[in-house]
Amino acid sequence: MPELPEVEVVRAGIERHVVGATIARVDVLHPRPVRRDLRGPDGFAAALAGRRVEAARRRGKYLWLPLDNGDALLGHLGMSGQILVQPADAPDERHLRVRFALDGADEDREMRFVDQRMFGGLSISDAGADLPPEIAHIARDPLDPEFDEDLFVRKVRKRSSGIKRQLLDQNLVSGVGNIYADEALWRARLHGERPGDRLTATQVRELLGHARAVMVAALGEGGTSFDALYVNVNGESGYFDRSLHAYGREGEPCDRCGAPVRRVAFMNRSSYFCPVCQPPPRRRRPRPEASAVPD
Ligand SMILES: [Zn+2]
Repeated sequence: MPELPEVEVVRAGIERHVVGATIARVDVLHPRPVRRDLRGPDGFAAALAGRRVEAARRRGKYLWLPLDNGDALLGHLGMSGQILVQPADAPDERHLRVRFALDGADEDREMRFVDQRMFGGLSISDAGADLPPEIAHIARDPLDPEFDEDLFVRKVRKRSSGIKRQLLDQNLVSGVGNIYADEALWRARLHGERPGDRLTATQVRELLGHARAVMVAALGEGGTSFDALYVNVNGESGYFDRSLHAYGREGEPCDRCGAPVRRVAFMNRSSYFCPVCQPPPRRRRPRPEASAVPD
C-alpha cells in the first residue's frame, strides 16, 4: 500500500509535470475508480475537459488538483493505485483505468491512473480547490508545516487507547501508516499498546519526532523519482526495506539488543516490535468499585 512519503513523491511529480496544463480529454476505461462521483463516468469526463490544473496538493494520503473553475480533482491511491505521467504514445498499462490527455505541456503527455485492485479512486470535488470538504476532517500529517504538535500531544495524553492505534487514527494525525508506526515505536522504545494517557508529553513528542524522521528518510530514498518524467508509486517498491529495524523482521535480531523481533496481529495487520527494548505495558489495576460490584 502506498504510504505517505510515496504519495508525496507522486504529488511533487504532478506538480512538476502536470500543473499548468489543461485537461484536453478524459477516458474512463473502467467505471469503478470514479464510483464516488455522482456524475457517472461520462459526466466526470465531461466536467474535467478544458479545465486547467492549477496546483497539486495533499492532505494525508489524499491528493487534490485545484482546477481553474474552483473545483478540484480529488484522488486516493488505495492499495495499489499509481498516477503516471507518460508520453501520449507510450503503450497503455495493463491496469490503466483513467486517461487524462493534457494540452499545453512541452510535449504530448498523459496523466494516467493505473490501479490493479481498484480500492483507490478519483472524483470531482465541487468548490474543493482550497480544501475538498470530503477530506476536511482528516488531520494534517507530521510533514505538514502547519501540523499542530502541541494539540496532538494533548489529545494523545487524554486517551487511554494504545499509542499505535492513536498514531494510525486519521482524525489525530494522518499519513502514519503501519510501517512507519512500527519503526517510530521501535526508535522511541515504546510498545504500541502503551496507553496514551500513561505517556509523558516528552515521550509523545519524541515519538512524533521519530515518525517524522522515518518518513523524511523514506521521502529521501524515493526522491530520485522527482526528476523522472515517469512518476511512479508502487507499494511493493521496497525502496525503504533496507532501513527497517522492526517492520517485517519477525525472528531477526533487534539491531539494538539482539533479541528476536516479534510479530503480533494488529487490526487485521501485524505489529513488529522488540520485546526487550519495547516491553508491553503492565495491565491496569482494575478499579476497586469495578471489581467489587458483581452485577
Ligand atoms: Zn531490542
